[in-house]
Amino acid sequence: MKKIAVLFSVICMLGSVFSWAADPAATVSPEEAVKLLKEGNGRFIAGTSQHPNNDLQRRNTTAAQGQHPFVTVLSCSDSRVPVEVLFDRGVGDIFVIRVAGNVANGDEVGSIEYAVDHLGTPLLVILGHTKCGAVTAVVQSAELLGNIIPIGKSIFPAVVAAKKSNPKASGDALINDAIKANVWQAIEDIYRTSPITAARVKSGKLKVVGALYDIESGNVSWLGSHPKEGGLLSDKGH
Ligand SMILES: [Zn+2]
Repeated sequence: MKKIAVLFSVICMLGSVFSWAADPAATVSPEEAVKLLKEGNGRFIAGTSQHPNNDLQRRNTTAAQGQHPFVTVLSCSDSRVPVEVLFDRGVGDIFVIRVAGNVANGDEVGSIEYAVDHLGTPLLVILGHTKCGAVTAVVQSAELLGNIIPIGKSIFPAVVAAKKSNPKASGDALINDAIKANVWQAIEDIYRTSPITAARVKSGKLKVVGALYDIESGNVSWLGSHPKEGGLLSDKGH
C-alpha cells in the first residue's frame, strides 16, 4: 500500500509540473483568456486543431487537483455549437453552460456565479450563433409549447429590440439582428439578476463579452462588452 501511495504522489507531482505547461489556469487575465480562445478558434477554422488537454494525464490531474477553467461560456445547446471543439480546448479549460437560445435565467445565472465567483474565471463569454432555431422561432412567432415557452419569453425582448433598431429588416437580416440582440439581452439579464457577477466586473476581476459563432465558417466574431455596460452596472445600486 505504501508503494502505491508513493507512486500516486509522484504521479500527482509530475502531473502538476506538466499541467503548468498546458494549463492556462485561473491566473490568466481576461485579455489572455480571449487570446487563447482566438488562437484555438483559428486552429479549428483552419482544420489544424491540436486537441490540447484531452489526454489521460489531463483527466487524472484535473480529477486530483480540481478544476481551474480560464473562461466561462454561456452558449446555445445547438449540436452545431460544440464549445470545446470550436475553441480547440480540452478537459478543465472551459466552464460551459449550454441552454437553448443561450438565455440567462435562474439556473444559468447560478451556474455563472459559481464559475466566476467560486472558481474565479476572469472571462465570461455569451456566445450566440447563426441560424439559431430558438431565436428564429421567436422572430417568426412560432407556437411554442410546454417548457419551451419560458425560453421564448426570455428571447422576446431581444426580438423587440432588433425590430426597434432596424424597423425595415426582415427575413434573415432580422433573424441575425435578433441573434445579436439576444446576446446583449443575456448580458443585461445577468447584470440585472446577479449582483455577484456585476460586482466582479466593477472590481476588475471579470470581463463579460459577447460573441457570435458562424456555424458555416466556424468563425467566432467578438462583440466586446455590452455597449451600455456602464449604465447596467450602475443600476439598482450594484
Ligand atoms: Zn441556438
